[in-house]
Amino acid sequence: MVTIIDSIIKKIYKKIKSYDVIVLARHVGPDPDAITSQIALRDSIRKTFPNKKVYAVGKGVARFKKFGSLDKIPEDENVLLITLDVPNMSRIDGLENIKYKEIIKIDHHPKEDIPASIEWTDTSACSTCQMITELILKTKLVLDKDIASNLFLGIVSDSDRFLLYYTSAKTYSLVSKLIELTNLDFTPLYKNLYERPFNEIQFKAYITNNLKINENGLAYIILNPEIFKEYGVDSSTASNMINDFNYINEILVWTFISYDSMNDIYKVSIRSRGPIINTIAGNYNGGGHIYASGARIKNEEDIPKFLSELDAACIEYNKENIVEEE
Ligand code: AMP
Repeated sequence: MVTIIDSIIKKIYKKIKSYDVIVLARHVGPDPDAITSQIALRDSIRKTFPNKKVYAVGKGVARFKKFGSLDKIPEDENVLLITLDVPNMSRIDGLENIKYKEIIKIDHHPKEDIPASIEWTDTSACSTCQMITELILKTKLVLDKDIASNLFLGIVSDSDRFLLYYTSAKTYSLVSKLIELTNLDFTPLYKNLYERPFNEIQFKAYITNNLKINENGLAYIILNPEIFKEYGVDSSTASNMINDFNYINEILVWTFISYDSMNDIYKVSIRSRGPIINTIAGNYNGGGHIYASGARIKNEEDIPKFLSELDAACIEYNKENIVEEE
């Protein structure tokens, strides 16, 4: 039986085949899934169609260099643009001066405003890399060990080691095929995601010791440049460790609010074990998944309002879900 996803995948493959120049772009401030999906698909298209020009654009992140290098913005015309791991135009990185003719969109966030001629949004997928794995396995796109390594890391990272709610039987089945088909020795790859300097562990201890937790299960911390300096970290370090605060009895929703002095803005990461948070993030220049979202708060005065919205969501959730003990 041909599913809707199968027919979208068929259309995507046909479209890729029909263009000579293809640019792959993803969201600003990339995480491992954004970068590895971009590099894996670029390398697979290049290896399948050696005569095509294929570019992966956007600002590089030193920490993610090991996943592969990015490309300069091409000057070509009639470009097919493939957007990955991003639902909104305003958050696509490196789009300036790209003369694209049409867009294919592949993403696992709730749909927003990208005007794609082929749209593949699958919020049930744990990661964009899961979707790229499916695309490659269901078409003639090449899969080799390097491509499989990147896809494996994107899936592991975005599902938080198969822990988050959108991990499914399909996730395990696709990962199993990646390992089997390429004879992937996957355990040595984990260091690419999890190896970190000791000062980051000390910074995590600082967060642990200073996190404020209220009686409704809301936990938060406001981090300023002095703290980042003291621990030798930056504002992205905090958001990279937010998943480590999952499954703590007293915490239902938790948020790290990091002041980015370069851009004079508060970068916010939010996670939840119940209340839906992406709608609240949406009120503060943000969005994301229902239980994993980000936002950008421009004025310090808006922080108390933001926290009280999260608190209200916790109260509401507790009312509906906590059964009083007799
Ligand atoms: P983070 O806390 O930065 O790991 O982000 C969690 C999720 O929210 C990811 O899927 C991000 O793509 C998304 N996200 C983060 N910041 C924003 C934002 N300002 N607008 C929309 N989505 C965001």
